[in-house]
Amino acid sequence: MSQKISGSVCLNHPNVPALAHCATCRKPVCADCVKSAEGIQCCSDVCLQNALASRVVVDDIMRRKQKSQFKALLRRLAILIVLLALAALAWHYKEPLQKLFKQGKSKTEELSKDLGGQVKGAKDSYQKELDAKDAGRKAKQQQKYGL
Ligand SMILES: [Zn+2]
Ligand SMILES: [Zn+2]
Repeated sequence: MSQKISGSVCLNHPNVPALAHCATCRKPVCADCVKSAEGIQCCSDVCLQNALASRVVVDDIMRRKQKSQFKALLRRLAILIVLLALAALAWHYKEPLQKLFKQGKSKTEELSKDLGGQVKGAKDSYQKELDAKDAGRKAKQQQKYGL
């Protein structure tokens, strides 16, 4: 007789101490009345079948969960492999890539120099234009006031 259910008596035999509680309905049962299968103890065949059925469902859920976890792991592994392959590829083509990068960089520098020159030229010509306008205005004022 277990400590947990001390004081309980079998639901069929009021004089016999209970050995276990039914896994489905929690009713106390004695050693003679207990129906057990696969480590599950119940008061009746109906309860036992219910308990076994619900355990199958739980097992199924666990299996599916493990399966999806496995799939997630595989996905992560696949991503890792792709990343590694890319890294290996990048390492393999490191020098041509660096050359390409340097070429691109110098090209960009050239372009930005050109652009800088163009901007400067535009600014200069605009300044000249402004100066010319200013000079014209001054000349007109001088004419107007006879300075
Ligand atoms: Zn039961
Ligand atoms: Zn009993």
